[in-house]
Amino acid sequence: MRKQIAAANWKMNLTLQEGEQLLEDIISLPHQLSENQEAVFAVPAPYLMMAQQKLRGKENFSVAAQNCYSKKNGAYTGEISVDILGSIDVHYVVLGHSERREYFNESNAFLAEKINICLLNNITPIFCCGEPLAIREAGTQNEYVAKQLQESLYHLNADQLLKIVIAYEPIWAIGTGKTASSAQAQEMHAAIREQLASKYGKETADCISILYGGSVKSSNAAEIFAQPDVDGGLVGGASLVANEFVAIINALKK
Ligand code: PEP
Repeated sequence: MRKQIAAANWKMNLTLQEGEQLLEDIISLPHQLSENQEAVFAVPAPYLMMAQQKLRGKENFSVAAQNCYSKKNGAYTGEISVDILGSIDVHYVVLGHSERREYFNESNAFLAEKINICLLNNITPIFCCGEPLAIREAGTQNEYVAKQLQESLYHLNADQLLKIVIAYEPIWAIGTGKTASSAQAQEMHAAIREQLASKYGKETADCISILYGGSVKSSNAAEIFAQPDVDGGLVGGASLVANEFVAIINALKK
């Protein structure tokens, strides 16, 4: 069975003390994570080690960076390398979030470079894709997302692809309170899986976890996660509230 993941994206929120408290509250609330399920916390870079320490020994809880750079090391002030992440035992990174694409001009080709350096260094990318509202209204979302996958991932071989998690996040649903319906999410996830199958074969495509992101909350998580091609969620706003996020973890498909 594919891995089911509830991933928290704290973005640029919370002080260190608030982040510590949030993690303490989350781990103290009753949660069930079975063997193929994971809760992942993408925290601001200065909090990575704090989060590692808080979650140490907690099975199926992991820490993720919200970004990394495409070069191994060197004079890139302010950036974070995969070696830096590896040295503090962080093995997930969110890549290609729509906010990075929009505000920091990250292109599909640049993201392909980041994907490459992650895979070479044992870091699992959570690769975000998804269309803006105008594309959804024009009905060309499948083609739009297919291009993102093609330009950032399709240079990989099947073994490499298997090391990636995909997050489908329609931009019109991120932070807007407007969620894709569970039918819309399923339709797009199935389309992504079909696109992957046509390039890599069905067996490979069936092993890739595809998370849904866009205003997931405790009240809609179970219905969205129950869809056959949805393998969990990438969660922004609701991941900042302990009982909301724990309810989302508990809504993962068993
Ligand atoms: C996100 O940050 O990826 C996200 C989906 O945010 P929200 O859940 O707040 O829409």
